[in-house]
Amino acid sequence: MISKHVKPSMANREGGIIKTEGTIHASNVMLYCTKCNKATRVAYKFLEDGTKVRVCKKCNETF
Ligand SMILES: [Zn+2]
Repeated sequence: MISKHVKPSMANREGGIIKTEGTIHASNVMLYCTKCNKATRVAYKFLEDGTKVRVCKKCNETF
């Protein structure tokens, strides 16, 4: 569940903070790095063949 600040609208006249289920942008997700042995931030990069891979920002391990 994530909290979302919303302006008043047709669907929600009062606005405020609503709780909603949803996906958080991938950049905010902590991934567990088996090499660092803890949750870590990830970066994305593209391999030569166009494959998108996740990279640990701490040790540069690809997932
Ligand atoms: Zn790592």
